[in-house]
Amino acid sequence: MRSICIVGASLAGLRGAEEIRRQGFEGRMTLIGAEAQFPPFDRPPLSKAVLASTWTLEQARLPVFEDLDAAIHLGVAATDLDLAARCVRVQGGTSVPFDGLMIATGTEVIRLRCPGADLPGVRYLRSADDASLLLARISRRPRVAVIGAGFIGSEIASVCRERGLEVTLIDSSPLPLEPQVGRLVASYIFQQHRDRGVATRFGASVTSIEGDSDVTGVTLSGGDTIAADLVVVGIGVRPAVGWLSGSGLDISDGVLCDEECRAIGADGVVAAGDVARWQNPAYGRAMRIEHWTNAVEQSEYAARSLLGVQEGPFRSIPYFWSDQFTMHLQCAGVRGDTDEVVEGSMATGAFVIESRVDDRVVGVLASNSVNRFQKARRALAAARAHS
Ligand code: FAD
Repeated sequence: MRSICIVGASLAGLRGAEEIRRQGFEGRMTLIGAEAQFPPFDRPPLSKAVLASTWTLEQARLPVFEDLDAAIHLGVAATDLDLAARCVRVQGGTSVPFDGLMIATGTEVIRLRCPGADLPGVRYLRSADDASLLLARISRRPRVAVIGAGFIGSEIASVCRERGLEVTLIDSSPLPLEPQVGRLVASYIFQQHRDRGVATRFGASVTSIEGDSDVTGVTLSGGDTIAADLVVVGIGVRPAVGWLSGSGLDISDGVLCDEECRAIGADGVVAAGDVARWQNPAYGRAMRIEHWTNAVEQSEYAARSLLGVQEGPFRSIPYFWSDQFTMHLQCAGVRGDTDEVVEGSMATGAFVIESRVDDRVVGVLASNSVNRFQKARRALAAARAHS
């Protein structure tokens, strides 16, 4: 293999590129990234320390550990992949030929679709530019409506509230994050937000954003209008695969890959990070994981897989963390049928929960219990290694 192209120059793309060099690849390497900054920004701090103004944006830049010796094209998106010609076409018409390709284009936000959704005070948080714009708005001390109580929405609500702003958190589900953390912890998170003064409107959908030149409120399905000067939308993301339509790859929910992160039906093509849906032997099914740790581990694995390093399939136990108010939440594995507090207590704010199917632990979730959580996470991974 003489040339490798990596599309997506953020977390997975960067870590993949470093691993390719670490493995001794001496050929030509090209990185193509739609965002203009390099090193790229790490996203988790954007909804935490950066939004809280305890970190500057610059502090959120990812470190670069290796001399990449790569041609890096930034601020340009790949527009299509021609597998027969073995090249990636880029905005502006340039073609980048490759012997090996890593797809690391991650996800893009799902936009709100209702009257008023295009007003300037309706914002999203994915990139560093989004964070700058949001911070500028927040400094005017607006009344904030957060639409979507997933991780990002819940974190934004907590930071804005801790900054002393009036915040309403809106979601069509009855509780925040229930599919990810289960009912017990979702109820706990809900109560934490309420106790700290976040107004909550759950079980309500947004029908329109009010305002002429800018946002004045959010109207809900029942007809109520909540006064707001800033709306932050966190209603989910979708894999960034538009540029792959017509390539022949299966992109029905990300790029479908085998157990070694190789795109199905394409030689010399791997995918990693939020965009990759691969056959995860730890669960015996195809999975796509939208979390930081998987992006790092999978991109390093996929780099080796691309270079033909033999090491068996890529197993991953989903893991994520989230910081909201005083809660440092960590979760590993998947949700089971029953959840039980096995250490600490919700009343103290420090606890560990095991999630089970029958008698088998399939997931562990903790708040403010880092050491105990790490032990339980390792045990979970060890049990899954033999499944
Ligand atoms: P991305 O980070 O999405 O990067 C993909 C890159 O590809 C982007 O730069 C994009 O512009 C580029 N791209 C897309 N299409 C093209 C194209 N056609 N051509 C060229 N380039 C393209 N995870 C956790 O586990 N814990 C957290 O606390 C946490 N907090 C988060 C907070 C925020 C605000 C956000 C947005 C995410 C958070 N995450 C968190 C998720 C985590 O950041 C992602 O899992 C991680 O960024 C995935 O990395 P990636 O490289 O696969 O994808």
